[in-house]
Amino acid sequence: MELWQEMIRESIHSVDQLVERFGLDRDVAQRLDKFFQARINPYYLSLIRYPGDPIWKQCVPDEIELEDIDAAEDPLAEEDMSPVPNIVHRYPDRALFLTTSQCGLYCRFCTRKRKVGDSTKISMRNLESAFKYLEEHSEISDVILSGGDPLMLTDAMLEKILIRLREIKHIQVIRLGTKMPCVLPQRITPKLVGMLRKYHPIYVNTHFNHPWEITEESTNACGMLADAGIPVGNQAVLMKGVNDDAETIKDLMKKLLAIRVRPYYLYQADLTKGANHFRTPLRVGLEIMDKLRGHISGLAVPQYVIDAPGGGGKIPILPEYIIARSEDKIILRNFKYNLYEYPDVKEENQLTDRSHFLRKNGKTLKSKNLPKYLKLPILNS
Ligand SMILES: *Cc1c(COP(=O)(O)O)cnc(C)c1O
Ligand code: SF4
Repeated sequence: MELWQEMIRESIHSVDQLVERFGLDRDVAQRLDKFFQARINPYYLSLIRYPGDPIWKQCVPDEIELEDIDAAEDPLAEEDMSPVPNIVHRYPDRALFLTTSQCGLYCRFCTRKRKVGDSTKISMRNLESAFKYLEEHSEISDVILSGGDPLMLTDAMLEKILIRLREIKHIQVIRLGTKMPCVLPQRITPKLVGMLRKYHPIYVNTHFNHPWEITEESTNACGMLADAGIPVGNQAVLMKGVNDDAETIKDLMKKLLAIRVRPYYLYQADLTKGANHFRTPLRVGLEIMDKLRGHISGLAVPQYVIDAPGGGGKIPILPEYIIARSEDKIILRNFKYNLYEYPDVKEENQLTDRSHFLRKNGKTLKSKNLPKYLKLPILNS
């Protein structure tokens, strides 16, 4: 057994351990266990500095999760966009391929709580229909291995999947969505990266949320991936009590860049059952983004997105930089709130109102009966 597998075995997971280690009430621990099991491996456990700190909050079950039982289990409507088991196909040229239900740690904020940890929900038996779907859909050029965490598969199993994907000519890019570099960096071994690099172009998107997660171990893990020619991106989630202030996010993004991980997305928290206590007001995210752009390296600035409830996909949200706009000019403000004017190129029949492109429930909305909130702030001259 490899070291990382032993560490998974040594994870805190039982009700008894939760009561003993974290002082949870037994009845509460039992209900939490039923709702979404715990798995805290010894590495991630060692990052906790004090009860209730940002590391603790991400992995230790909390009674508050039991409060929002009415919230959605599948806020991103992934099930509706799953043509065959294990595949989520939302965007034209790329698809998610769920390869396992297991993870190196179970995150209390997980959007896929409904599936993760339950091997009956993401099963290897269904891989064949998933491969067939990918083969038949030549528009798919980018496949994202996800789960669960695809690095919970053994190197041999993962290689089998990669070989099979590489037989499909229209697949150009293979991405791995894995939290292992952050939660169990011991999973990244010379043997693993030696195998992965045979199947380039391989990209990894990982998931660090707090600067304390940048350690010697995670630095080594990300370095090994980068040395193997694998570009590593980071998808962080903005969470109350974890990282919802500009200093923490700034520190995290700069530290990621220093370990050769490129910040990719910063997510507004999803409306997931049992995770709504992590949500922050949109204002907080916008203010944080405002304090990044221009202030730190552009390479360290992620895209702030909302993964739209109901399955609309990731939608970028930006602080307001356009102060006013007319047919022949745009007035902008910079990161220091100084105003600048840029003369625009004037066009015949300029489109000033894009609202007739908008759709709701598949129907085109006529400009005149558009809900007010959909009116676009594009000014006529
Ligand atoms: C996030 C996601 C992707 C990848 O989106 P990118 O913006 O290309 O990173 C693909 N499919 C689904 C279902 C997703 O949620
Ligand atoms: S590693 Fe990802 S899929 Fe697994 S519990 Fe954490 S957020 Fe969910």
